[in-house]
Amino acid sequence: MGPLKQVIRSAVTTGKKPGVFGMATKPDQAHAHTYANGMAFELNETQTEFQELARKFTAEEIIPVAAHHDKTGEFPWDIIKKAHGLGLMNGHIPPSCGGLGMGVFDGCLVAEQLAYGCTGIMTALEASGLGQTPVLVAGNEEQKKKYLGRLVEEPLLAAYCVTEPGAGSDVNGVKTRAEKKGDEYIVNGQKMWITNGGVANWYFLLARTNPDPKCPASKAFTGFIVERDTPGLTPGRKELNMGQRASDTRGITFEDVRIPKENVLVGEGAGFKIAMETFDKTRPPVAAGAVGLAQRALDEAAKYALERKAFGVPIAMHQAVAFMLADMAIGVETSRLAWQRSAWEVDQGRRNTYFASIAKALAADVANKCATDAVQVFGGNGFNSDYPVEKLMRDAKIYQIYEGTAQIQRMIVSREVIEKAKRG
Ligand SMILES: Cc1cc2nc3c(=O)[nH]c(=O)nc-3n(C[C@H](O)[C@H](O)[C@H](O)COP(=O)(O)OP(=O)(O)OC[C@H]3O[C@@H](n4cnc5c(N)ncnc54)[C@H](O)[C@@H]3O)c2cc1C
Repeated sequence: MGPLKQVIRSAVTTGKKPGVFGMATKPDQAHAHTYANGMAFELNETQTEFQELARKFTAEEIIPVAAHHDKTGEFPWDIIKKAHGLGLMNGHIPPSCGGLGMGVFDGCLVAEQLAYGCTGIMTALEASGLGQTPVLVAGNEEQKKKYLGRLVEEPLLAAYCVTEPGAGSDVNGVKTRAEKKGDEYIVNGQKMWITNGGVANWYFLLARTNPDPKCPASKAFTGFIVERDTPGLTPGRKELNMGQRASDTRGITFEDVRIPKENVLVGEGAGFKIAMETFDKTRPPVAAGAVGLAQRALDEAAKYALERKAFGVPIAMHQAVAFMLADMAIGVETSRLAWQRSAWEVDQGRRNTYFASIAKALAADVANKCATDAVQVFGGNGFNSDYPVEKLMRDAKIYQIYEGTAQIQRMIVSREVIEKAKRG
């Protein structure tokens, strides 16, 4: 049993007092607790313990090798194996499939810590969660046991396969085609920018099953689980990205790939809804990752500002520099609250789309601002790869692009605001 499992088991047996951010309430979850009334900003003891475990893991296992993985692009299998052994991965998998049944909030606590060390490595882990979530929200018991159970048993990864060369934000433009022939679907098409594309054991795939261009998105697409070793499925080369280089991003070609009908999620036509609902659970951890990066930028900048002297004093004593640190702190604290709210909402079983988009948009912008300002605080050194902050600046950019761009998040938020205004 990994340390995280031990922490959770001991919390269940000792009945430690939870804070308001106590874990999710589903009765099948081994850790279910009662909630304190009203507002509080305390983690419960269990959460504090596994946040600490993730922090220690980050300090000992991720930070020392982050620059190596950034430079070489080598996939961090060693770290993944260790994280798996400790129970720091797949926490959301239900106990019925051998997992811990943790809530989104608890997963975010871990995500923020890991991202503090390296968001490329964190993205490799997080994208597996993204690939699993459609199965988590829409899979039948057999599918869950088979595909989620496998990930608990072994350090394997999943991937989420939706974007195509011609369709990213506009998912309705997905062209990959799945045609039913007997008890199988035959898939042809091309996916692009798939995180874990070359290393996943299985994929969530979104493909068009209704060829009629007038068919609404809510009926035109189907979600499938696809085994990596299915003939006709070919990952492309690892893409050379600006940042998060430890992460594996690839295009994937599907040529007459045969998928058994048992691997359809829910039923034909249900795919779009599954693919979109997934983001309610996965945007909070992405936001938490961006906060981890922003916190790292702040910590590095504050430390450097005390060490570096200009005009006879540490640069932290110059108000222009100190105020940059203050603005970074304001961003970190507020975007952390935003992911916490969005994760807490979904753990309550409430629709959190609005909060998830706010958290993702805010945290992504804050991460970019903090990383850019950290480079500024470092001056010339900040522009150089011997110092840690230029990596942060390169790594931060993707937070405004993947899992829905900054503009798409604002579309979602504005839609909710306008609908509310219309209702009066
Ligand atoms: C490193 C990396 C990892 C990724 N991982 C995955 C993954 O694991 N799985 C997966 O399926 N996808 C993944 N993606 C794809 C990612 O989600 C898309 O890149 C993203 O959704 C944007 O789509 P696009 O690149 O096609 O840009 P486009 O949709 O072409 O957008 C281009 C620009 O136009 C803006 N825009 C588009 N529509 C509107 C609008 N209606 N209003 C205002 N502005 C608009 C966008 O905000 C953006 O600025 C990844 C991408 C990258 C780069």
